[in-house]
Amino acid sequence: MSSPPSPPRYPHADEPWAAYYLYQNPGWARPRDEYSRWKLDSSRKATAIATWELREQARDEYVVTYGRDAQQWPERHLTVVVFPTNLPTAVCLECLWLDGSHWEDRGARVAGRLHSVAPEGSR
Ligand SMILES: [Zn+2]
Repeated sequence: MSSPPSPPRYPHADEPWAAYYLYQNPGWARPRDEYSRWKLDSSRKATAIATWELREQARDEYVVTYGRDAQQWPERHLTVVVFPTNLPTAVCLECLWLDGSHWEDRGARVAGRLHSVAPEGSR
């Protein structure tokens, strides 16, 4: 009995933004065509990197005030809405949660608030 093939490893899996890329592009390993493959390697990757950098900027601003230890933060799983493209993405400053499925920032803010209240069940 053979074991199922293991999924391919994302080539940039060691990059800090890789978790965002993999969440934003669940089909990265099976692009539909060459155009999709090109897009996954260019603009979709750039979006993940931009999302990560915007999150890190917001996180750094928070860390300046409250320190690196999230356990000591006055609000756990604090979220912010960033715009890596013209679409809003809610990101958590504490964990790797994000939600970019909203067309306007109000929906992203609501998703972020729900994550702050119940981080375990919010994806
Ligand atoms: Zn979180």
